[in-house]
Amino acid sequence: STTTSTDITLRLPDADATRALGTAIAGLLRAGDLVILTGDLGAGKTTLTQGIGAALNVRGQVASPTFIVAREHPPLPHADGTRGPGLVHVDAYRLGGLGELDALDLDSSLADSVTVVEWGRGLAEALAEDRLEIDLERPRGGAVDGDDPADDPEAGTRTATLRAVGPRWAGVDLRTLGA
Ligand code: ADP
Ligand code: MG
Repeated sequence: STTTSTDITLRLPDADATRALGTAIAGLLRAGDLVILTGDLGAGKTTLTQGIGAALNVRGQVASPTFIVAREHPPLPHADGTRGPGLVHVDAYRLGGLGELDALDLDSSLADSVTVVEWGRGLAEALAEDRLEIDLERPRGGAVDGDDPADDPEAGTRTATLRAVGPRWAGVDLRTLGA
């Protein structure tokens, strides 16, 4: 049976907070892990991936991979000479299905890397029973005409809801990410 963690939801007031969450998540990640990012265009999926890539110290600019289905970022050495996992950044938006993902022949890099899939829900789950699922949302303030600036839909605040699925994550407390 598959274990699923309790959802935790974090507020991300600005893009730096989204990047910082990626950095914090990277501290939990190891080679072979899969992260699935869900959220509308502009929700912050690539920004979060940039935080992960920066913390892993991978080569190359983590950018929106929209016109490239997958981009591999090999690990660079940290200051102490060690290397962590690389990053495979996949944009599943244009993928027709799992067959196309398979056709990318990512298997060897998947084992050595952390794989982050944007738009992967419903597709990437088949890659691994263990996965970290992150939903990024730009909450629609109910009170668009209200007095509270926090209700302003232009304010930009996002929320991230995290859920860990599978035995790999059984001992991991995602609540540390909010601290
Ligand atoms: P996606 O990959 O989901 O389409 P991006 O990561 O490209 O979204 O982000 C779109 C824009 O939103 C970028 O300009 C980014 O700086 C900004 N952004 C990301 N997170 C936040 C946030 N928490 N608050 C405000 N703006 C954010
Ligand atoms: Mg993107």
